[in-house]
Amino acid sequence: MAVTTHILGFPRIGEKRELKFALEKYWRGEVTQSQLEETGAAIRHENWELQADNHLSYVTAGDFAWYDHVLTTSLLLGHIPARHRQGSPTLDTLFQVARGQSQHTCDCHGVAASDMTKWFNTNYHYIVPEFSADDTFDVTWQQLFDEIGEAQQRGHSVKPVLLGPLSYLYLGKSVDDGFDRLTLLPRLIRAYQKILAQLSQQGVTWLQIDEPILALELDADWLGSFKLAYEMLAGDVKLLLTTYFDGISGVIDDIVALPVNGLHIDVVSAADQLSPVLAKLPADWVLSLGVINGRNVWRADLAALLKQLEPVHEQLGDRLWVASSCSLLHSPVDLAPETQMNADVKSWFAFARQKVKETGLLGAALNGNPEAIEFCHQYSQPIEARKASQQVHKPQVQARLKTITDALATRTLPYEARAKAQKSALGLPFLPTTTIGSFPQTNDIRQQRSAFKQGKITESEYEESLKAHIRDAVERQEALGLDVLVHGEAERNDMVEYFAGHLTGFQTTQFGWVQSYGSRCVKPAIVVTDIERDKPITVSWSQYAQSLTSKQMKGMLTGPVTILCWTFPREDISRKEIAQQLALALRDEVDDLQEAGINIIQIDEPAIREGLPLKKRDHQAYLDWAVQAFRISASGAKPETQIHTHMCYSEFNEIIESVAALDADVITIETSRSNMALLDAFEKFNYPNEIGPGVYDIHSPNIPTEAWIVDLLKKAAEAIPAERLWVNPDCGLKTREWAETEASLKNMVSAAKTLRQELAG
Ligand code: GLN
Ligand code: ZN
Repeated sequence: MAVTTHILGFPRIGEKRELKFALEKYWRGEVTQSQLEETGAAIRHENWELQADNHLSYVTAGDFAWYDHVLTTSLLLGHIPARHRQGSPTLDTLFQVARGQSQHTCDCHGVAASDMTKWFNTNYHYIVPEFSADDTFDVTWQQLFDEIGEAQQRGHSVKPVLLGPLSYLYLGKSVDDGFDRLTLLPRLIRAYQKILAQLSQQGVTWLQIDEPILALELDADWLGSFKLAYEMLAGDVKLLLTTYFDGISGVIDDIVALPVNGLHIDVVSAADQLSPVLAKLPADWVLSLGVINGRNVWRADLAALLKQLEPVHEQLGDRLWVASSCSLLHSPVDLAPETQMNADVKSWFAFARQKVKETGLLGAALNGNPEAIEFCHQYSQPIEARKASQQVHKPQVQARLKTITDALATRTLPYEARAKAQKSALGLPFLPTTTIGSFPQTNDIRQQRSAFKQGKITESEYEESLKAHIRDAVERQEALGLDVLVHGEAERNDMVEYFAGHLTGFQTTQFGWVQSYGSRCVKPAIVVTDIERDKPITVSWSQYAQSLTSKQMKGMLTGPVTILCWTFPREDISRKEIAQQLALALRDEVDDLQEAGINIIQIDEPAIREGLPLKKRDHQAYLDWAVQAFRISASGAKPETQIHTHMCYSEFNEIIESVAALDADVITIETSRSNMALLDAFEKFNYPNEIGPGVYDIHSPNIPTEAWIVDLLKKAAEAIPAERLWVNPDCGLKTREWAETEASLKNMVSAAKTLRQELAG
């Protein structure tokens, strides 16, 4: 009757981001490949020891990746874009696919990297496989087998993980027109058969085969293909079909018809799937329940889980497996080194290492170990204490949430009337020019910030240096002749971290890094209590900047949905409520900005689209509260105060109605890379307010010419009436140098002037 315990994967970056530093040194030629390999091996060994020390039934192998696990799968399958193929693949091949190969390292022309895109609804990015009709697959990369051997040699019981064939195909993109990737499935399956045969030879009994796409809403072709594929894969190695990030109860009938040996479901993201799945589970399958949240930082309520799982254990006996909901890749590595955290707050969290411990303990408790049972109850005590804490549930925030009404989320006048009021109040020209907020984060800015953080300069010295940067930015913008100026965001390291650091209710960490892509990691703040703004955040900077110019100075805020999406949320209240709390706090900031004489305020929401739930049927509910949150933050603005928003992506078709429902007076978006094609959605929908379609790509160092910008603007004017057009770059300029920034903006301003004359005449 013993339950089996395992995790779906562990972070590979190392406790102190060792892999990141080793990779970057390797790319700079500062360490050899074998030194890099040693770093990777040490991380794997440590991760396996941890799992073994915590008595997990299996250690997971195959979760390590030099850059990204989807890319590792491509190499394993010998599926490398033709432009990167050159003899047998090496580690450098892998890095070339991920990062491209520049002209500097070879005499050939630059060879483009593959695309990168978000892994489902996480903030992790994977390398997109490229498929064409004549692709072939073969097992050419031994990493998986080597790592399994390595773990076995160290005495571990190994359960490898492998991305399943359907998800691998689905997550890629077709590079040939009009070709159906599913036609590649038979060939792909033959390669998977070879992999399974080799695993079986290595003595692998269970394989965790990840098919996360089962949690999406697949069409009949894709869903129907599972049967064919898995019939060809059934054999010596037992398959644990693994799903996560959302529920699969809608397709449970299709799933139970597959010849696999067990199923993993994510009970954290979709608790309601447990009973329908239990009801349909074939009698000889194991069921792995993902109950330890792999993508957030909160301590698991082991006492509650124990109670919930006992009857399931009763029912399934040793067919019950207990696991993390998804790979722990999405949580920070270790809580232990967080020495600056208040002990109470620390007792609320569990990072990846602690989650392994939780999994082991829960298993032991279910198996009847009295010490483990006792420990589970103790372990849940801080969670109980937190439930009643007024530090967490602040009565004043709760009271304020009750004041939310439709009226609170609505500007006092409709757009047309506001536009008139703004026209007379703001004195802007036809085709006004502006930027998206940030200006180059120069070395000096970074040095001052780090000196201040290390206590090497005083707060007032730091402020003086920031003021000097603001002054400089204002002078440059005036010289360029821009119409709406910005202060440049020199005081912000990151648009979310800055607000999380200045609002109450967030906890930041010292080492809470999570892999974003390749060697890049992010350190999101954690929402821990009800959120409040106890004092103005940006007002003094904007006010100072406004005092330097007679032009309009645009205030610059990060929106509630973006702050929510780029931090770890609380689990005891809904995302909707967190967004509302943030919205109310930002609303106060909007109020104070306009009181301080700021007449234009931008509330950035670049993350609205990526916050969409995985299933289409859940989209509208999310969009409704996301839009409401934005509107709560913006609606305290007087009619003559102009609200801008910014989103730096392209595909608006799906969400255009909600974008319009934000009712921002002006929206700036990214369009330059598609030659304004992205305005289609806005044109078709008849977008009612003003739009600034980005007229040049800030991600490229190229300087756009005046003629090129004029041309783009003319295209834009075909889609949007020119009276409602703004002229701006497509995103913030913080990653650029001043020289290229000024050269580009100079051409942008003169393009606007040229067009003003042409269109007026
Ligand atoms: N205001 C921010 C900036 O300019 C917007 C950044 C973003 O959209 N990601 O940097
Ligand atoms: Zn942007």
